[in-house]
Amino acid sequence: SGSFASLAEVKPEPSPNILYSGIFINNEWVKSESGATFPTINPTNGKVIAEVQQGGKADIDKAVNAANEAFRLGSPWRTIDASERGRLLYKLADLIERDATYLASLETLDNGKPFNYSYYLDLDMSLKTLRYMAGWADKDHGKTVPADGQFFAYTRHEPVGVCGQIIPWNFPLLMLAWKIAPALAMGNTVVLKPAEQTPLTSLYVAELSKEAGFPPGVLNIVPGYGDAGAALVANQNVDKIAFTGSTQVGKLIQQNSGVGNLKRVTLELGGKSPNIILADVDIEKAVEAAHSAVYFNQGQVCCAGSRTYIHESIYDEFVDRSVERAKKRIVGDPFHPDTEQGPQIDEEQFNKILSLIQEGVKQGAKLLHGGDKHGNEGYFVQPTVFADVNDDHIIAREEIFGPVQQLMKFKDLDEIIVRANKTDYGLAAAVFSKDIDKINYLIQGLKAGTVWINCYNAFAVQAPFGGYKDSGHGRELSQYGLRQYTEVKTVITSLLQKNS
Ligand code: NAD
Repeated sequence: SGSFASLAEVKPEPSPNILYSGIFINNEWVKSESGATFPTINPTNGKVIAEVQQGGKADIDKAVNAANEAFRLGSPWRTIDASERGRLLYKLADLIERDATYLASLETLDNGKPFNYSYYLDLDMSLKTLRYMAGWADKDHGKTVPADGQFFAYTRHEPVGVCGQIIPWNFPLLMLAWKIAPALAMGNTVVLKPAEQTPLTSLYVAELSKEAGFPPGVLNIVPGYGDAGAALVANQNVDKIAFTGSTQVGKLIQQNSGVGNLKRVTLELGGKSPNIILADVDIEKAVEAAHSAVYFNQGQVCCAGSRTYIHESIYDEFVDRSVERAKKRIVGDPFHPDTEQGPQIDEEQFNKILSLIQEGVKQGAKLLHGGDKHGNEGYFVQPTVFADVNDDHIIAREEIFGPVQQLMKFKDLDEIIVRANKTDYGLAAAVFSKDIDKINYLIQGLKAGTVWINCYNAFAVQAPFGGYKDSGHGRELSQYGLRQYTEVKTVITSLLQKNS
């Protein structure tokens, strides 16, 4: 999906050195105040990769103080040119590109996703995000306003201030890029908490940000568990929270962000996205697209096409072919170049997925392939296909976040709009068809932040991404993504006389 793969061809480093495992505050590596550490685990075998300093409230508060100091009036960060902020971000992208093989290897080790995906998708898209936002640094600006009366009015786009950013484990480096790039381009300072499962690439990028020349305190990274995220949300000197993760935690964050100071909040949460296949499609292509829509990244994608609705006239053939495709899916060592699917992120997700599969069987969905763990080591799950799934089945309602496909049948367009929208989520939807009138009708009816037509999981840094309903609010990427990181100040100046 998308036009990626601008990076040269490389071989992975299956045992990358772990160079940074501390807390990064004020451009320095420090230990946790409590002395606690936590293990980050290799999901292919369950073994500890490294012990990482465990940030808690005291460390978060220290990082927020550093970020506040870096944001004070007259600070190096507040007084540099906007174009210079862009240059620093371009420099950071160049350093990430210099170390792309290492970083993609580290991502694969810590997360389990196949190296080819880490490198050609995650790394490439991260670079594009940083460079796209770098370009905006000196191009986003306010307006002069034709105010009534003897006044001169204009708007300034000012940074919001200290941004607390909390990210998940499914795209560790890419989510970091989505978060820090617009925040820094617009002149904010950042305290970012990576997911406890995948802290390593964030920590390496912290060191690169210092090498790029960002002043101390502008980007602080505090690894830790949910309590560290909660401390960031509770800190009264944080001006804004940006979160990607589960809807459950997102709702908590939204509530808690209003308890002390009223923080700005953007949320990118879960999904249960419908992928609608009309009768006129090229079945082979649609089957392949529906397959990768749900299995990409081990199914650990917030916008995964986890409800595949197929027109009844092609349903049986579509089901047969989907099973054939799932049988061919290559699961195994993520450092092997042919591997399509690595392990799930951790034991908790692994167990959750297996129990949802069992729930699917219990409720009467037809299990046609997979359904169990793959191999005897690590957190691998077989590519699993369910047919004859009802809208009321738990596997059709809950986000599974695993390699589990739900195939469902539909008859007509009005029915499918109602069924597609019968969910609390609204992140994405897709339609496969050649009939432009039907496509346009569906586009308008579907309640989703992104609608893909004859493609799936297609992302572009120039196009916004975000959810309707319980999938969150605010948009990331694109020019829309800048709005989340600026305050608009209206300045009205009295004039002695106003002339046209
Ligand atoms: P999560 O929402 O618990 O964790 C995401 C981030 O939030 C992590 O950095 C975590 O440490 C932090 N966090 C946890 N509790 C917090 C709190 N009370 N206050 C502040 N920060 C907190 O997600 P998870 O437990 O890793 O995964 C659970 C489910 O979430 C998955 O099965 C999946 O359905 C969903 N998920 C969605 C996305 C997405 O991209 N939308 C990503 C990961 C997980």
